[in-house]
Amino acid sequence: MQTREKQIIKTSWIGIIGNSLLSVLKITVGLISGSMAVVGDGIDSASDIVTSWITLFTARIISRPPDNKYPYGYAKADTIATIVLGLIIFFAGIQLAISTISQIVQGDIHEMPSMLAVYVTGISILGKYFLSIIHFRIGKRIKSPMLVANGKNMQNDIVISVGVLVGLFFTFILKMPVLDKITALLISVWIMRVGYKIFIKTNVELMDGVKDPSIYKKVFKAVSRVDHAHNPHRVRIRNVGNLYIIAIDIEVDGSKSVSDSHEIAKKVEKSIKEEVVDVYDVIVHVEPYGNVEKETYGVSDNDI
Ligand SMILES: [Zn+2]
Repeated sequence: MQTREKQIIKTSWIGIIGNSLLSVLKITVGLISGSMAVVGDGIDSASDIVTSWITLFTARIISRPPDNKYPYGYAKADTIATIVLGLIIFFAGIQLAISTISQIVQGDIHEMPSMLAVYVTGISILGKYFLSIIHFRIGKRIKSPMLVANGKNMQNDIVISVGVLVGLFFTFILKMPVLDKITALLISVWIMRVGYKIFIKTNVELMDGVKDPSIYKKVFKAVSRVDHAHNPHRVRIRNVGNLYIIAIDIEVDGSKSVSDSHEIAKKVEKSIKEEVVDVYDVIVHVEPYGNVEKETYGVSDNDI
């Protein structure tokens, strides 16, 4: 198994263990102090264990080698898991909005929770802070959108917990409980937006788009370093997980032999792999110099 998958598995376990501890702590303290809000928060942390199981399960899929059924490998399982996490986050936002609105309609009466419950919320904020930072760091380093999305999921919990504390301040110090509900509604909208943005960003990869168009420049630069490789055009780049598949047309002197042309194509491939890290595959199509034909869409030098 590659180190990248090991990193995902390690991070997932940190998420599972961290959220389990927080969940047990909150449910226990909630039951002892008689605060149903803290118990509810503990049950919510338990649902975050599920998202970490998703990333752990996905890591096992990603690590499979390519086969007849999936010649491009299994890396895109990360993309699918990211979409799932985005939807889970979006529905968590909807759920918060619905429960807040029903509280407004029913006019629920707030009771001041014990200081113990407030302390536990503080510990939870710290715990989730460390969990989210670990997910962001490792997720960005190994380019796993799934881990970054789960980091955002944990960051949302921090915002919710801070919102609960701010709500207590509004309710009991300022005696303006309505501000508590407004805070909760704003947070629910913010969470839905986080989920929506993850969904939209992930679709770029599902639709074979490129998140970072600067990569085209690198490809043309790489080809320009290869002698006898002319007029690079019709470049098409897409992602499988953290890797790139790059297809490109080049033109060579038409009187060159197939062997010579193949050597040039191989040099182009090597040069691209040196310039662009994280390449899954490079496909070079060779045409005679000055070739004119109707071609499907691809990016040319003057398009960027
Ligand atoms: Zn062409």
